Amino acid sequence: MTFIEYISTLGSNPYFGAGFGLASLGASVAIFRKGLQGALIYFRRHYLITLEVPCRDKSYQWLLQWITVKGARKTQHLSVETSFEQFDSGHVVTKYDFIPSIGTHFFRYGNSWIKVDRTREQQTIDLHLGIPFETVTLTALGNQRQLFFNILEEARQLALNKTEGKTVMYVSYGSEWRSFGHPRKRRSISSVILDKGISNKILADIKEFVNNPSWYSDRGIPYRRGYLLYGPPGCGKSSFITALAGELEYGICVLNLSERGLTDDRLNHLLSCAPQNSIILLEDVDAAFVSREDSLQMKTAYEGLTRLTLSGLLNCLDGVASTEGRILFMTTNYIERLDPALIRPGRVDLKEYIGYCTEHQIEMMYKKFYQDTSESFSKKFSREVMKFNKPVSAAQLQGFFMMHKQNDFEILLNDLHSIWES
Ligand code: ADP
Repeated sequence: MTFIEYISTLGSNPYFGAGFGLASLGASVAIFRKGLQGALIYFRRHYLITLEVPCRDKSYQWLLQWITVKGARKTQHLSVETSFEQFDSGHVVTKYDFIPSIGTHFFRYGNSWIKVDRTREQQTIDLHLGIPFETVTLTALGNQRQLFFNILEEARQLALNKTEGKTVMYVSYGSEWRSFGHPRKRRSISSVILDKGISNKILADIKEFVNNPSWYSDRGIPYRRGYLLYGPPGCGKSSFITALAGELEYGICVLNLSERGLTDDRLNHLLSCAPQNSIILLEDVDAAFVSREDSLQMKTAYEGLTRLTLSGLLNCLDGVASTEGRILFMTTNYIERLDPALIRPGRVDLKEYIGYCTEHQIEMMYKKFYQDTSESFSKKFSREVMKFNKPVSAAQLQGFFMMHKQNDFEILLNDLHSIWES
């Protein structure tokens, strides 16, 4: 049989015919699939626009909130973020924020449909935050970046509106700053009663600093200013700094240097990445370093635990600067315990003693609490308190006034001794 004859017999063989048919069907499906893949890639590349926002990006939380409030309002798949704030009185306010859950959501923005994919990596953990790494990806038809820009801008505006007229407090979370609780209503400077002239002096100094960046850049000096408020507890150091932040429309980043796990590196990172327009407040700086004797006693408990060192702190302070001006406050109850190197000019540019109430302050505190009182009452009250010849803090007075909301002057005077009993 010749080769030609052999081929023609194959053609009439039904098994071969079926096999050949199947093979060509398979090939065409494969080609079709490849073609579809190519077309999809082409379509994605040229007709879709995507924006990926990782959880480490500043706009991540803003965007999630915006999507819930403005975008995917109708989504039924939400996750919750609970925050609560505890007031000095012990009263707790809890708030639930809903954000789109992990998965895919769709919403319409203007004339465009937008797909939101919120994904969570199971394997990768954000080492700083200690939570799984997350990403939100927005996808829309077209190639107009402006669309995403508008969305991000709206999200930012929404987030800022929430904090308008309020002071945002940040605390450190791993090696980044996170806003703590809900933004607080700004505290007015006049509500913190310091001794004559102190408030205005510090405020004028800060305003001069904030308004004159060129003075620093012209002279090649890092644009930062350090303040130290020292004095007994309860006299208004923290309250004044909070009020100052409100006045400047700044946030406050509060850091306690004695916090466990705070190392030189972490502090350095935190100070260099503090949010713009915020005051950094290092509270109770004296408690940051254990004295040599104490550290020997505590050696077993703290053995192997890396802690902040004085030289590390000094380096961090020297490195703190930023284009919009870095304002750093430190507070302590015991200035004598601080290493002189920590409070030398350049690190601390203005030191101010915030002490027990003077007669004038007691009078002002009285007027603040009993606003419809006459001048003679406030003067008599402060004179009577001074007669005890004992130091009194504004916090003690505040506690006393709160126990005597009804201003029965005689009762108040008879009960003065209880100021020091709380
Ligand atoms: P410090 O930081 O000096 O320990 P705080 O600012 O924490 O003191 O004050 C504790 C409480 O006492 C706050 O509730 C604050 O309202 C009140 N207080 C303290 N000092 C003053 C002050 N000078 N004027 C008004 N209130 C004050």
